[in-house]
Amino acid sequence: MKDYYAILGLDQSASADEIKRAYRKLALQYHPDKNPGDKDAVEKFKQINQAYAVLSDAEKRARYDRYGTEDAGAASPGGFGDIFDLFEQVFGFRSPRSASRAAPRGEDLEATLELELKDVVTAGEHLVNYSRLVLCESCNGEGGKRQTCSACGGRGNLEEYRQSIFGTMMAQTPCVRCRGRGFTLTEACARCKGSGQARKSENISVKLPAGIDENQMVRVAGMGNVGPGGPGDLFVRLRIKPHPEFTREGAHLIYHLKIGLAQAALGAQLEVPGLDGKYPLDIPPGTQHGKVFELAGKGLPYPGRNTRGHLRVIVEVNVPAKLSPKARALLAEYAQEVGEEVSPEGLWEKLKKAFRG
Ligand SMILES: [Zn+2]
Ligand SMILES: [Zn+2]
Repeated sequence: MKDYYAILGLDQSASADEIKRAYRKLALQYHPDKNPGDKDAVEKFKQINQAYAVLSDAEKRARYDRYGTEDAGAASPGGFGDIFDLFEQVFGFRSPRSASRAAPRGEDLEATLELELKDVVTAGEHLVNYSRLVLCESCNGEGGKRQTCSACGGRGNLEEYRQSIFGTMMAQTPCVRCRGRGFTLTEACARCKGSGQARKSENISVKLPAGIDENQMVRVAGMGNVGPGGPGDLFVRLRIKPHPEFTREGAHLIYHLKIGLAQAALGAQLEVPGLDGKYPLDIPPGTQHGKVFELAGKGLPYPGRNTRGHLRVIVEVNVPAKLSPKARALLAEYAQEVGEEVSPEGLWEKLKKAFRG
């Protein structure tokens, strides 16, 4: 025997209101359109409808409570001609399944998620903050006290007969009185003023693969605004904050390494920063300005692959702008040794002053 209360997450003392509330929440969560291709969700959706069909009917519920069974046909999973019928009755709009005919889904939304460059290195979960329209909790999305529209009898559209050369033709137009909803409100909900919707701040976790790129979009199904035909989707746009040390070229990282004159000429053993630690870098004697060293696999991951790009280190030979008297003397001596003609001592300083001022 199935425990209908457990299926709805309730116990036997639940009020009719609580049962309806639980059904609404679960039916939205497990609706097959929100879980495409998920057989478990379809099964769960069926069970929820089955449980609600019994527990929402006072007579059936009493029988179920007493005998632990309700064999009115509706209780068997196959007994539903259309498992979406109940959904449509309760929500007052067509379920997304049949929505293509009429009721539109809620709007898709876009949110921005700003990440650090290091977040690109590994897959991970990130929180996205945004707000969307959800069903008003106060009226469960009904907008207030409903009454079947008297103009269209609850169908939401009116049949119109038109004369044409083919004879009398029937056309359907949305009912003006109820704006196609099939009901009117006798009393609007105080909280949502009859819209049935409320703005809610959401903080959801989004899973991102490694190697994501600027402006990439991630779709989160069913997290847009709610609408008569179900919720729209959320699209998360990824932004990557500029890094103070690295620039990015696809899966490669570019780093500019400043070295001194002597280091370039004599060679040095240095360290360069990476996104996951420091790496040793051997600068051989005679390294030229603009020389590029490639550290394979120290860049960013290629999306969907298990490999990473390079860390490209571009060497910039730093010419000292200021020299101590001793350094100048040594450099002058060096110039003499290799036969480079240089300005006489003191002239440099005078020239710089002249430029400044
Ligand atoms: Zn109407
Ligand atoms: Zn409301």
